[in-house]
Amino acid sequence: MEIAQLIRQKALKLGYEKCGIIPVGMMSEYENKLNERTQKIPESQPFYQGQQRLVKFKEEFPWAKSVVVLTVPYSKYHVPESMSGNIAKKYLLDTRIDENTKEYQNSVELEQYIRNLGMRTSTNRKFGLVGLRWAAMQAGLGIIRRNNFFYTESGSYISIEAFLTDYEMKLVEEQKLSPCPNNCDRCIKACPTESLCGAYMMNPLKCVSFLTTFGGRDLLKESLATQFGEWIYGCDVCQDVCPMNRGKWIGKENFPQLEALSDILTAENILKMDEKTYKEKIQPKFFYLTPDELWKWQVNVLNYMNNYFDKKYKSSIIESCNSNYSKVREMATAICIKRGLK
Ligand code: SF4
Ligand code: SF4
Repeated sequence: MEIAQLIRQKALKLGYEKCGIIPVGMMSEYENKLNERTQKIPESQPFYQGQQRLVKFKEEFPWAKSVVVLTVPYSKYHVPESMSGNIAKKYLLDTRIDENTKEYQNSVELEQYIRNLGMRTSTNRKFGLVGLRWAAMQAGLGIIRRNNFFYTESGSYISIEAFLTDYEMKLVEEQKLSPCPNNCDRCIKACPTESLCGAYMMNPLKCVSFLTTFGGRDLLKESLATQFGEWIYGCDVCQDVCPMNRGKWIGKENFPQLEALSDILTAENILKMDEKTYKEKIQPKFFYLTPDELWKWQVNVLNYMNNYFDKKYKSSIIESCNSNYSKVREMATAICIKRGLK
């Protein structure tokens, strides 16, 4: 059997949904696509600047000859009711660096398998070494839809991984998914902040997922914060409204150790959380915020409580006026003034 076939066979046996392999030359168009995005929305330039490492991966990995790209759905997992709609599913069910998950263990095993075949290989499990959606599309594993997410037959609730190898290989599938229906723009209409402003067009700096995680700076001064709705960390709206995701969520299996977090990650309890709990139990899983950024979670929660104000939140908001974190105090005080809470 060809070496490429051996890798795919191993991947499928481990439980990956799909596996394709492309020569690195098939990534060349990615740079143009990234430039097109910045030209369409010039203010997104600082964001895409950070993606340049994905374009220039050959500078760091001159030995790379092919990209093994794989998909694995996370839609099989159950999302605890207490976190549903507040924290994006991808982050709750994140297997990228969670050693307790079968997906992470499979990824390590596959990497070792590739090495055992005599190849040099490298990956970055958190953020990829190449444009992952582009690589998966080139390998014929599925399509990128108007909401910019990558879809396979399992919908968009999937993770993509890629390994660089120093061996020339090609194993491309025939893509069979139908494109978005002609007049569908549900995802664009549903985007709460108009970050998704057209088909395949997005201002990532306005995305709730960006603003509630690593892009969050000063939510009190963020004019879009009142449009975040119920989201505290991440946002699933443009995927959840998509008809191509209808019936794709299975939700039957328990994700390792997630149930244990369902009490800790309620809005009220996030506001009461101490740094030790945050650093030990929350930050390693939700790694887009650093160990020093518990305050951002708390500001996000206050913003949610303001957007969805309920009398039951009154005491939590008032208590937060005495927080050790200045941004939390400022946010809580502003809500108390606005709502006349004493
Ligand atoms: S994740 Fe949310 S905010 Fe971001 S583009 Fe999609 S709908 Fe808009
Ligand atoms: S909501 Fe419609 S336009 Fe948007 S990605 Fe889904 S099918 Fe495509």
